[in-house]
Amino acid sequence: MKLSQLREFGLIERLAKIIGKPSSRVVIGIGDDAAVLEIRNTKSFGPSLRTRSEILNNHKLPNSKYQLITTDTLVENVHFIISKRFSFAALGRKAMLANISDIAAMGGVPTFAVVTIGAPSGFSVERIVELYKGMKEEGKKHKVSIVGGDTVRSPRELIISITLLGEVEKQYLLTRAGAKVGDLICVTGKFGGPAVSRFEIGKQTAESRTQEARIVAKSRLATAMIDSSDGLVRSILELCKASKVGARLWEDKVPIAKGATLQQALYGGEEYELVFLVPPSKVKKLKKLKFSIVGEIVSRQDNSLPSAGGYEHFKVLK
Ligand code: ADP
Ligand code: MG
Repeated sequence: MKLSQLREFGLIERLAKIIGKPSSRVVIGIGDDAAVLEIRNTKSFGPSLRTRSEILNNHKLPNSKYQLITTDTLVENVHFIISKRFSFAALGRKAMLANISDIAAMGGVPTFAVVTIGAPSGFSVERIVELYKGMKEEGKKHKVSIVGGDTVRSPRELIISITLLGEVEKQYLLTRAGAKVGDLICVTGKFGGPAVSRFEIGKQTAESRTQEARIVAKSRLATAMIDSSDGLVRSILELCKASKVGARLWEDKVPIAKGATLQQALYGGEEYELVFLVPPSKVKKLKKLKFSIVGEIVSRQDNSLPSAGGYEHFKVLK
């Protein structure tokens, strides 16, 4: 069977079956914006712990945080096209942002990154330096340090892959599951901007909603959260799938970016906005945050969202 028949999400399902049941330390494996892991309290976690008894006592304490890990890859001619005035710094910022957004969507804080670069032998060193400067700059904004990676030759195209660690206090963890019928669908920012600029790197100034995500997480008012990287409708569908609910989208309430059509706003993607769900009785308490309410969670039977749409790899475009 060809990948184009199974498509991205079909393949991931198949791979999940091969991977099988994760170990008991895996709180969330495949299926969310980042994996959530139980950190063991071992002595390697306590450079500040000096005495043996301190180490042993610490070992007995349950850890108050989860480890988060995510990865995201950009491939030339799939995610970006190198043109004359292409900004490699902007490409670096975007690669980092995509990962930071996934950690933020879990309610967490990004920490350390490893970066893999694949490039053909003739590729310009200066361009890779620019790429790295962009990555570092975006990382610095969010206190992310790059701590390693891998450098390989690629036969043709440039490839950038980042794996990012993060952490979240257990009580602030937000996942895609947890939505309840009646919850309001809340979003930050506007949608469709990247589609208007044809997803050209550097044209769109996508925001990283790390601070907003932390406000939502710390408020403990939300029942679920995701980032909108694959498009607004796709993101809501993912929340519904994980939470076993349906949704109604109020299309006239969707904040549309300047120049974008409703279709672009609903299916375009790459905005890296937050989509989170809050019970109606609690939504007023989120005063500190600027957001829009674009729909509500309903039972599966009452779902009125289209079941497809959004970007998917290996889909044959008609
Ligand atoms: P996002 O759009 O938030 O980056 P993806 O749609 O890429 O998430 O991935 C969905 C889920 O599938 C995630 O939990 C991810 O870790 C998992 N996943 C994607 N590709 C693979 C793979 N090749 N092997 C195992 N898990 C994968
Ligand atoms: Mg995501």
